[in-house]
Amino acid sequence: MSVSLDTAVSSLLTNRRRAGALKSLGIVSVRDALTYYPFRVTDPVPSRPIRESKIGMPIAFAASVQAVRAVPMNARRGFRLEAVVADDAGTAARLVFFSYKKPYVDWMSMRLRQGSRVVVAGSPSEFNGQLQFTHPEILTIAPGGATPLPDTAGSLKFDADSEEQALRRVCRPRPVYHATSRISSDHIHESIMGFLEALDAHELPDVLPESVREADGYLHRVEAFRAVHDPDTTDDFRRGIATLRYEEAFVSQTALVKTRHSTHQVKAHNCSGGEGLVRRFVASLPFELTGGQRSVVDDVTHDMARDWPMQRLLQGEVGSGKTVVAVVAMLDAVGAGHQAVLVAPTQVLAEQHAETIAGMVGRIPGGDTEAEAGTPEVPVILLTGGMKLKARRAALATVASGVPCIVVATHAAFSKTFQAPDLALVVIDEQHRFGVEQRETLRHRYDVAPHLLVMTATPIPRTAAMTWFGDLDLSWLTELPGGRKPIRTIVVPEADGGTMARMFAHLRARVDAGERAYVVCARIDADDATDDDDSAVELIDDGDIGENGEAETRPPLHSVAEIADRLAALPQFRGLKLATLTGRDDDETKTRVMAEFADGTTPILVATTVIEVGVDVPQASCIVIFDADRFGLSQLHQLRGRVGRGGTNSWAFLISRAEPDSIAARRLNVIQGTLDGAEIAQADLELRGAGDVLGDAQSGGKSSLKLLRVIKDAKLIEQARGEAERVLADDPELAHEPQLAGAVLDFTRGSADFLTST
Ligand code: ADP
Ligand code: MG
Repeated sequence: MSVSLDTAVSSLLTNRRRAGALKSLGIVSVRDALTYYPFRVTDPVPSRPIRESKIGMPIAFAASVQAVRAVPMNARRGFRLEAVVADDAGTAARLVFFSYKKPYVDWMSMRLRQGSRVVVAGSPSEFNGQLQFTHPEILTIAPGGATPLPDTAGSLKFDADSEEQALRRVCRPRPVYHATSRISSDHIHESIMGFLEALDAHELPDVLPESVREADGYLHRVEAFRAVHDPDTTDDFRRGIATLRYEEAFVSQTALVKTRHSTHQVKAHNCSGGEGLVRRFVASLPFELTGGQRSVVDDVTHDMARDWPMQRLLQGEVGSGKTVVAVVAMLDAVGAGHQAVLVAPTQVLAEQHAETIAGMVGRIPGGDTEAEAGTPEVPVILLTGGMKLKARRAALATVASGVPCIVVATHAAFSKTFQAPDLALVVIDEQHRFGVEQRETLRHRYDVAPHLLVMTATPIPRTAAMTWFGDLDLSWLTELPGGRKPIRTIVVPEADGGTMARMFAHLRARVDAGERAYVVCARIDADDATDDDDSAVELIDDGDIGENGEAETRPPLHSVAEIADRLAALPQFRGLKLATLTGRDDDETKTRVMAEFADGTTPILVATTVIEVGVDVPQASCIVIFDADRFGLSQLHQLRGRVGRGGTNSWAFLISRAEPDSIAARRLNVIQGTLDGAEIAQADLELRGAGDVLGDAQSGGKSSLKLLRVIKDAKLIEQARGEAERVLADDPELAHEPQLAGAVLDFTRGSADFLTST
């Protein structure tokens, strides 16, 4: 059987238990095994005579066993196995092993039978004035001719055929793998080495084009895998890792650049006719566009005046005014006689957007020129799953008629029955997980591809954006419009009763001044074991494992039900009406609760993170977040962006039960110290790891990016980008690089999984 990367490891292993243990690590195919990278490599151990050994310094030597005995330890119900060995210079050392397991002791005594040759590796200590190795590594050496000893025929296998071989093995730097109770690092290593040997080298062709590999001095792929799993030197290991890391950077960038180029072959609606309407709209706004908004508007209208689809990601701080930009883009399409849709992540948001947008476009006056004078108002059509059937049908029918209009839809309503014959633009709001494959699907769903504008307030560091959204053009909105005042963020230890009381009094004062307050909890009620299903709380779990690796029990998270009851009983809130909102409320209730909060009927809203995204109540000036130490940083930032939107002073109170100096406490310090989303995202990445920032999917090992670190490897990613552009310029379809073409396809498919999962 020829072994390739796709061969199942279970077909290569006779040991079922081993196969099962590997599977639990996510290793199913040979590819999975080879890309199960060690996280470090041990320093090589020098081979020395025993007399040159120093306490605590690892050495290796060949020796003969002079005596061995197992001593029962009464006090501890186990055994101590002692052996005396002497090297060729005649220096003796003691080897000691402790175990509760008789079979282990028997097995080890057999390996260390008197007169046999072994290679020993370990760090000595001194015990009773004698040199002692505790639990050293032992390699047994076959006596000349490798014939097993007569009385143990068949049952005893030797670890090595010769001393030289054994020494070479223990003295080499050794890779260390993340292991579990089911399988040790050594056994993982042994398995991977077996696969690597069985693998037909032809089945491991290079993915990096030769020109790229040679220019940068990287290894061939086969050599790189060998260098990583079986390095001769630590330098070797580093080169192997560097090669494979660069391969990841190069493949991902090639995939993204290629997708981006292929977009240019696709036909889209040219919206250059929409300028007039856009101009009148901008003039009708009650405020000036900020510099940032103006420049993004220019980019967008420029993109949409071309014959291929715009693919743009707009990142902007919460409250930076992305909606206006979206409306400009949509009016550009409508003004050119086409249709546009804004896709919102939730029903509440869709309704809010529809209302805001209808208000904005309702103020557009007729134009001066004859053609513009009679411009009919721009229809704004809401489309959600929660609408009454009749209303929904009517909305769908209007859209299906092809009339130029703005549609505001929820995700579900957009993907199911949606038919827009003249769709020129899709705007995706607050949905940075709209992945490569979804973007491609969207493009292929229409004969003429719609332009695409993806908007997100989740700040993504530049290189991360390049890695994950390299097929999109990027725009940023950095300033907050309208002289908005920065939010004041205060961390409050929950145990500090005095501060808690003052905080509640502050909330009351703000409410009495006509403002509103949000109170956020992670759970709905005591039975709500999981997170709020509607809003994906990205809770952190680093605190779960204590110093000794034991799970620590942590206090349960506060819930909306519990906190609402507690607040209602507080003297500070006497006479006030509180409302609650969670993902479990139906859409009608959500809409009503938000309306009553906005108009002040219930000025305090206790909610789950359903309010996280986009909710815009300008009077809201305070937000209290319980269990803030258990939330992700970007999510806290997003939540705090719900207040101060009307230009009032604003406060975010982060209630914490974190120990001082813990990682959780440090995280809260970050958020308290800055309002800069990009900085927060960066800190979040550093404190948590990349997978968590985009969701959990990546940490499941599904992603094809295993070595590439989006922050640390920024330079590498940029370099790979350049080389990818060069390679694709010569060979746009990668016709001469079939291996690269295959890897690119795998990446696109794999990344679709992790970018779209929520
Ligand atoms: P986000 O980027 O979070 O979606 P929004 O688009 O909801 O932000 O805008 C937040 C608020 O700022 C809205 O009330 C909007 O009307 C207002 N706004 C947007 N642009 C400007 C501007 N240039 N000047 C003043 N206010 C603005
Ligand atoms: Mg918004």
